[in-house]
Amino acid sequence: KKKLLDVQNLSVSFDVYAGEVQAIRDVSFQIEEGEAVAIVGESGSGKSVTAQTIMRLIQMPPGRIKNGKVLLDGQDLLALSEKEMQKVRGNKIGMIFQDPMTSLNPTMTVGKQIMEGLLQHQKLSANEAKERVIELLRLVGIPNPETRLKQYPHQFSGGMRQRVVIAIALACNPSLLIADEPTTALDVTIQAQILNLMKELQQKMNTSIILITHDLGIVADICDRVIVMYAGQVVETGTKREIFNNPQHPYTKGLLKSLPRLDQAKDEPLIPIFGTPPDLIKPPQGCGFCDRCDEAMRVCETEVPDYTILSDTQSVRCWLQHPYAKQAGSSGSKEA
Ligand code: SF4
Ligand code: MG
Repeated sequence: KKKLLDVQNLSVSFDVYAGEVQAIRDVSFQIEEGEAVAIVGESGSGKSVTAQTIMRLIQMPPGRIKNGKVLLDGQDLLALSEKEMQKVRGNKIGMIFQDPMTSLNPTMTVGKQIMEGLLQHQKLSANEAKERVIELLRLVGIPNPETRLKQYPHQFSGGMRQRVVIAIALACNPSLLIADEPTTALDVTIQAQILNLMKELQQKMNTSIILITHDLGIVADICDRVIVMYAGQVVETGTKREIFNNPQHPYTKGLLKSLPRLDQAKDEPLIPIFGTPPDLIKPPQGCGFCDRCDEAMRVCETEVPDYTILSDTQSVRCWLQHPYAKQAGSSGSKEA
C-alpha cells in the first residue's frame, strides 16, 4: 500500500493572553491510500487542531505552527502558498464538519453549493456539472435529486443536510476525506446511517478517511486503525483489533471501560475516567496523563515517555511498556 499522508513531528501553539497554549506537541502519524483511520480523544486533546493544521485552517495569529511537516503525496502542505493550498482543499482533501448547518450557505440552493466546488476545481460545462451534482446526490442517498438540487438547506433534515455536506466534500473525488465529529449533532439512528454511508463511499471510491471523534464507540464499524490523542500528544496507535482487544495505554484502557458494551450486565456500571486533562499553557513535565493515571510511577512525573513499538502497527507512549522502565523497575510506584 502507498503512503498518502505523512504527518511529521507537528507542534502547534496558540498565543493567548495567559500564555502559550501548546495545543499539539510532536504529533506524527501516517495514512495509507484507501485507509480509514480514527483520531480519538476528549475535547482539548488536539484532534481538531491536528485536522485544521492539515487543512491549513488554523487562524494565525493566534495560532502558530512551531514545527513539523504535513506531506500529502510527498508534497509539504505547510510550505504551499495560500493560493496553492486552495487547490488542495476540496480537490485533494475534502472536509466534513460537525454541524452541517454552519458549513452550508442558507441562502444558496444545495445544487449551486455542490456545483461551486466542482466548477472551482474542474473544467466542466454547466450541463456536465449539473449531471455530476445529480450523480453525487444519488451517491449519498438523497432521493429525487433533480428536485432536491433546487432546494435550500432548511428544506432538508439534519441527516439529509449532512449527506449534502458529504456530497460537497466528495465532489472532486478527493484522495482524503477528513470528518471532524461528523455525526455528533445528529441523533443515534441517523448517526449510524451517516457512518455507514461514509464506509460505503470509502470502499466504493477508495478514499482515505480520517474520522475525528471523542466517541471510541463509533469507530469500530468504519475504521481500520485508531490513533488515540491525549493532551496534545499521540499516546497510542494500533489497528482496530489491537486498540479494542489489547490496549496498552492506561488512557486507552480508560476510554474502553467508559464505553457501553453489548455483553455487559445491566447493573454493571460504566467507569468514567476521573479528573481533567492538564493545562496546556503549562503542560506537565512528564507524562500528560500522570494526574489521572492509576498506574503512575515516579518517572512518569518528570519524564515524557517515548514511543515503545509493540508490533508493526501498534505503538504506545507509556513508561509501563518502556523497556528501560521494565528492567529498572526501581522507579517504584508513586505511593512507595
Ligand atoms: Fe500512566 Fe506513567 Fe504510563 Fe503516563 S507513563 S500513562 S502516568 S503509567
Ligand atoms: Mg473538536
